[in-house]
Amino acid sequence: MVFDYRKIFREIADEITDMNDLGQVADYIPELKHIDPDKFGVHLTDITDQHYDFGDASEKFSIQSIAKVFSLILAFKNEGVSIWNRVGVEPSGSPFNSLVQLEYEKGIPRNPFINAGALVVSDILISYLENPKKEFINFVRELAQSEDIHFNPQVAESEKATGERNSALVHFMKSFDNIENDPEEVLDFYFYLCSVEMNCRELSRAFLFLANYGTDPLTDNRILTPSKAKRVNAIMQMCGFYDEAGDFAFKVGLPGKSGVGGGIAAVLPGEYSIAVWSPRLNNRGNSYKAMKFLEKFTTKTNTSIF
Ligand code: GLU
Repeated sequence: MVFDYRKIFREIADEITDMNDLGQVADYIPELKHIDPDKFGVHLTDITDQHYDFGDASEKFSIQSIAKVFSLILAFKNEGVSIWNRVGVEPSGSPFNSLVQLEYEKGIPRNPFINAGALVVSDILISYLENPKKEFINFVRELAQSEDIHFNPQVAESEKATGERNSALVHFMKSFDNIENDPEEVLDFYFYLCSVEMNCRELSRAFLFLANYGTDPLTDNRILTPSKAKRVNAIMQMCGFYDEAGDFAFKVGLPGKSGVGGGIAAVLPGEYSIAVWSPRLNNRGNSYKAMKFLEKFTTKTNTSIF
């Protein structure tokens, strides 16, 4: 079915103005506090290269945990199934920075999208990439088909300065031999990948291959096999929204990933990739308005995977 997506975006934006003051910008990373909380942007790219946007869709923001999808893809693409010996694929049901499960699961994080799992994936990447930061950012640029994507060193350093929990996670996992490299090196790489800045257009473009069974539909470049793309989407569906992944599946019904910068990227396989950004977060660390927007969007267009 063909929709006038832009008209639907405007309609929904009007319907959710009563949520304008709900939630808080993430403030545990001091640099993120400076963002204007009222920003709002959306960009949808479909697999035939049609684009629909609304609001601040061209403005860069800190993608934070959305970068965990890119690091997982790079590790899975290059290392294959062996990564599942070091990180699981189960929803955690715990906050993104939780330590509790690691003790009784012997240092194996539940999934690659909680911080512990992303730290293990960072360790895997450091072990085989010659220049991890450079190769990682080039990979994201290739996915987004844009050279204008960069780390924000101030955000990375700000996070490093307040990163006690992440530091605890790496050291704890090292005690179970699930970290191979120097913990400081792993943390440095992890904080840098969280600091990547992108806009909604770039994010939806970078996720487009996941809406097309692993191949970029516009360049024909195979990023992942269909089987691996299926698995990345499955993990996004089950684990992409911290301890609110069930709620996101229930209300929105698309595989996706959020970040504490207020962004959400999601895909409908065979159709489109969409990125939404609104910095005010709920108490689970997900953007209030971006979640509500997507709930209304998949309901009005009847386009969820369910
Ligand atoms: N860099 C953030 C942290 O480790 C990521 C948080 C997020 O977006 O989930 O705390």
